[in-house]
Amino acid sequence: MPNNVIDEVAIQLRARRFMAEGAPTNPLNDLTAYAKAANAVVRYEALDVGESGYTMTRPDGRHIITVNSNEDAGRQRFTICHEIAHIILGLPSRHDQIPLWSLEKRDPNEIMCDIFAAELLLPHKAWLQAVPGDEPSVSVIQALAVRFDCSFHTAASRYASLATFPCALVTMDHGTIRHAARSTSLRAMSAWIAPRSSVPPESVAYQLRDRGESRTELGEVQQDAWFQDWSDSEVMNELARHSATTDSTISLLWFSEGHAPEREVDRFGKRFTDDGGLPELTGELPWPGRSKRK
Ligand SMILES: [Zn+2]
Repeated sequence: MPNNVIDEVAIQLRARRFMAEGAPTNPLNDLTAYAKAANAVVRYEALDVGESGYTMTRPDGRHIITVNSNEDAGRQRFTICHEIAHIILGLPSRHDQIPLWSLEKRDPNEIMCDIFAAELLLPHKAWLQAVPGDEPSVSVIQALAVRFDCSFHTAASRYASLATFPCALVTMDHGTIRHAARSTSLRAMSAWIAPRSSVPPESVAYQLRDRGESRTELGEVQQDAWFQDWSDSEVMNELARHSATTDSTISLLWFSEGHAPEREVDRFGKRFTDDGGLPELTGELPWPGRSKRK
């Protein structure tokens, strides 16, 4: 993995360890166990528009998480988990300039805390039980967002991370790629989408933004438009959603395992083996291998 890139898997594993140690029962609706495990208390206050919350640390080490009571319940829950991530990961907060809910989060610390928060709010076991076997679609993602009381973007990102087939969720703003969450099989194929690069002109995301349309669109795109150093490209699906007001875009990319290019050896000539992705902490539910897609 190139330097300076967020290690999503390491953050997810850290979050799972925190959950297993601090709140083993995975309280889907009650976050107080998580706060307690982080030595934090949560208080609610009417904050300015765009300010979701912040954390102060008392001299005795206790953290006080303040949440904007004017935001909806789903956002408040995400804020609590995001602030817990700052505490557990030891990352300073950078909310002073950028609203937490804007996709325009240039600071990698904020992306890392969002990844941690998603792991807490959308526990992987409950998530995998809720994900339907259908092809990805707006309604599938929306139903998951409702079920887990989170945003479309959070649900789509989680969907990609835990998909059992090659799948990615690319987060962009102002025409620049910020982050790509990838499924285990896509990581195993070394499918790489470079952060801080421009949105590819062939993509559905680019075309939506180019037309300045705030909408969601499904299309097809060559795999090598998105993935770097990708040979023998075939087409894949791209479900893009663009907001013209914030100039932010997300794209869900996916294809079936049979449409991957032949890549038996990696670029160092070593025969490729799957590392199995995220190990499970519980020993249950073995992680799917490379080929589970119909
Ligand atoms: Zn933050």
